[in-house]
Amino acid sequence: MFNSLSDRLTSTFKNLRGKGRLSEADVDATIREIRRALLDADVALPVVRTFTGNVRERALSSEVSAALNPGQQVVKIVNDELVSILGGQTRRLQFAKRPPTVIMLAGLQGAGKTTLAGKLAHWLKSEGHRPMLVAADLQRPNAVNQLQIVGERAGAYTYAPEPGNGVGDPVKVATDAIGVAKSKLHDVVIVDTAGRLGIDEVLMQQAADIRAAVNPDEVLFVIDAMIGQDAVQTAEAFLEGVDFTGVVLSKLDGDSRGGAALSVAQVTGKPIMFASTGEGMKDFEQFHPDRMADRILDMGDILTLIEQAEKTFDQEQTQKLAKKVQAGEDFDLNDFLTQMAAVKKMGSLKKMIGMMPGMSQYKEQLEAFDEREIDRVEAIVKSMTPQERTNPKILNGSRRARIAKGSGTTVTQVNQLMERFAAAQKMMRQMGKGGGMPGMGGQPG
Ligand code: GDP
Repeated sequence: MFNSLSDRLTSTFKNLRGKGRLSEADVDATIREIRRALLDADVALPVVRTFTGNVRERALSSEVSAALNPGQQVVKIVNDELVSILGGQTRRLQFAKRPPTVIMLAGLQGAGKTTLAGKLAHWLKSEGHRPMLVAADLQRPNAVNQLQIVGERAGAYTYAPEPGNGVGDPVKVATDAIGVAKSKLHDVVIVDTAGRLGIDEVLMQQAADIRAAVNPDEVLFVIDAMIGQDAVQTAEAFLEGVDFTGVVLSKLDGDSRGGAALSVAQVTGKPIMFASTGEGMKDFEQFHPDRMADRILDMGDILTLIEQAEKTFDQEQTQKLAKKVQAGEDFDLNDFLTQMAAVKKMGSLKKMIGMMPGMSQYKEQLEAFDEREIDRVEAIVKSMTPQERTNPKILNGSRRARIAKGSGTTVTQVNQLMERFAAAQKMMRQMGKGGGMPGMGGQPG
């Protein structure tokens, strides 16, 4: 996401590196570059104007920090302004004082509402809620069915009394659903509504009617981050027609230039609350303006990474491993396998690495990284006997040949893995000595 914008901005800053003082001409040249980068990323013109105006004013003002050189100061100012146009503070979901909390989804057809409904339910479950999905998109053929499928994947109940295909009353479905949620003790209700390909009066009216009938705690406007310049117009139409409390950016994983993301919060004055980054249930994040700004400027997003890790890592397993390493015991291939499974649970390794600072320079290698590598490694370790896993020293040539055959790999691949494992083991040993916690050091590089 934001790859090209990110490249453009970071290369602009490179030109400032090493400059002792910035002249007005330096600042103006930088501003011109930033302006072009933003326009090429499809950011709306008024937003670009405000942005560059603020950056220029601050860069030329006496605002100085002794800790930063002039180039770094410009980066900091751009970072601050990015956070600001992305909405400033993180805005969290607001829950009703008396359940159920009602969340209504609105947006164009194909924006990603139905997919998001599933992801939201999946995420809410991981936060300890009992969400229920409501199929109030009765327009599009198959929409009801699609929501049921998504609900199943999320492990959430879907209320769908009408078959869809243009029949049935979506307002009634939505209001009935609240009663059902109360009786079945669901504390969050997610209402999926119909979208049209373009902005359309009937669609707006229907969404507005549902809104009036169920009085939702949150109305989330879902927008496809790839739609570029149309984003602003669409968002404004929904703001006027339905009104919403927050924005969800979908398809941020695609080759999105970022314009929608960088325009919508500013133009509508509504916060971006979530980002949808793929077709899988876990490709979903809470949106943090500051972290997103860091990602755009290639400063990494370690906080999101840590949060995802904390959610998926098994505390008990991690502590057991920590104790083992601290006690000077060897990290063995069973531990390696456990860590591998944990990494797989976190989703795409590529995406995770992409959140680390300074990784944009390795973009090509990252693109080339084959996610199946993890599966291969896992297959190799699983083809070993328990004895081999605890004591890899016994892995002689014939054992390695057997393992290669059993895992559908080659002896070279087995050897490579063993080398990497030996390096990881050595690192763990050093950490053990230092008393540090083992992190994810055992991952293949
Ligand atoms: P709706 O009409 O608003 O309900 O949109 P859907 O949820 O049906 O999504 C439309 C299409 O976009 C489907 O093919 C989804 O699989 C796809 N999609 C939804 N969200 C994402 C996302 O975050 N990333 C990607 N790559 N595709 C998505």
